[in-house]
Amino acid sequence: MRTQVAIIGSGPSGLLLGRLLTLAGIDNIIIDRVDREYILGRVRAGVLEQGMVNMMREAQASEKLDAEGLPHDGFEIALNGGLHHIDLHGLTGGKRVTIYGQTEVTRDLMDKREADGVTTIYDAQHVTPREFGGKNPWISYEKDGATHRIDADFIIGCDGFHGPSRKAVPPKAIETFERVYPFGWLGLLADVPPAAEELVYGKHARGFTLCSMRSKTRSRYYLQVPLTDQVENWSDDAFWDELRRRLPEQVADAVVTGPSFEKSIAPLRSFVAEPMRFGKLFLAGDAAHIVPPTGAKGLNLAASDIRYLFDGLREHYADKSPAGLNAYSERALARIWKAERFSWWMTTMLHTFAEDDAFGRRIHDAELSYTLSSVAARTALAENYVGLPY
Ligand SMILES: Cc1cc2nc3c(=O)[nH]c(=O)nc-3n(C[C@H](O)[C@H](O)[C@H](O)COP(=O)(O)OP(=O)(O)OC[C@H]3O[C@@H](n4cnc5c(N)ncnc54)[C@H](O)[C@@H]3O)c2cc1C
Repeated sequence: MRTQVAIIGSGPSGLLLGRLLTLAGIDNIIIDRVDREYILGRVRAGVLEQGMVNMMREAQASEKLDAEGLPHDGFEIALNGGLHHIDLHGLTGGKRVTIYGQTEVTRDLMDKREADGVTTIYDAQHVTPREFGGKNPWISYEKDGATHRIDADFIIGCDGFHGPSRKAVPPKAIETFERVYPFGWLGLLADVPPAAEELVYGKHARGFTLCSMRSKTRSRYYLQVPLTDQVENWSDDAFWDELRRRLPEQVADAVVTGPSFEKSIAPLRSFVAEPMRFGKLFLAGDAAHIVPPTGAKGLNLAASDIRYLFDGLREHYADKSPAGLNAYSERALARIWKAERFSWWMTTMLHTFAEDDAFGRRIHDAELSYTLSSVAARTALAENYVGLPY
């Protein structure tokens, strides 16, 4: 098989790039180790920056997002029994975020790809990028007991944190930066109306909470938990009780409980790999970087990578110019590190760290107190939350 651009990974970054390439007349194949239903069963992000919404529009895949996405002009921070409003719209000169689940983004892009009749190979095993340091890169994989090969001009690693693309890079060609946080997020998804109109981020001595949503009838809640906790030991009742305990009374009273249909514990990690280009292999999205979800940046960073990468590929094919591809890694990393900083800062300020001494706890409290009381600090928070310009 031969294509112009071979994309490993059918998550949001691979699908978005594939759709934009198809619209630009650039041949592409996507290959994934699992199938469509498995991918659509993963529950992940839900807060979209305007840049991501614009990319979905450019990909002509925004009909449902435009109809069903919930624009949010702000969010609340719960502290010491009170609520503090962060007016994103007012503080950023009219910007906002949109609530729309990553699962829906993925489904919309998959549907477009199927309608386009473009090749996606699911259930492929041992997917490996090869000879990307030379002129003729290719991918090997196994499916149905046979070994196959895809030759391409470029290989794009959109295969998430555990995928094969980053691992195929010789160790001396790549530098990684990592911080693993000493807690995780226990997330629960239920078909109940959200407790509040906007997201509520809560700081509490018992740990962080987030009241989020996917729609007006589907809520997503999170609790900070120790990494040693097992999800099997958290009944729905125990979750709802702990959630209400950590929330101010007016929010706790508004929590509508119901049976969960997804419950999982996600570890929190900050991670960046540099550079993001190795000859004819490019990394994008979670394959190159991870942020703790506190700042809602993971999916949005995948979108900004694809912005820069798609522009570079289009320039390569349409204008015969290597400039965009040559600049990709540097441009993407400049934005990634700012989002890493913001996500680390939000995480540090809003969570409880068991190893903190009394001084550390006071400093974190003072950071939050200052942020809530200063227009300048709230503006910086809002500017980062809605997303820095591409
Ligand atoms: C549990 C969880 C909760 C999250 N919550 C949030 C949130 O609330 N807010 C937020 O902004 N972000 C969140 N994120 C992050 C966000 O979901 C990711 O940033 C986003 O999915 C990145 O998209 P991606 O396409 O780069 O990678 P992924 O979505 O990870 O897609 C990678 C694709 O590569 C495929 N793949 C992996 N290995 C192979 C292989 N060997 N061969 C072939 N294909 C392979 C996978 O099957 C997958 O389809 C969360 C992530 C997780 C894991």
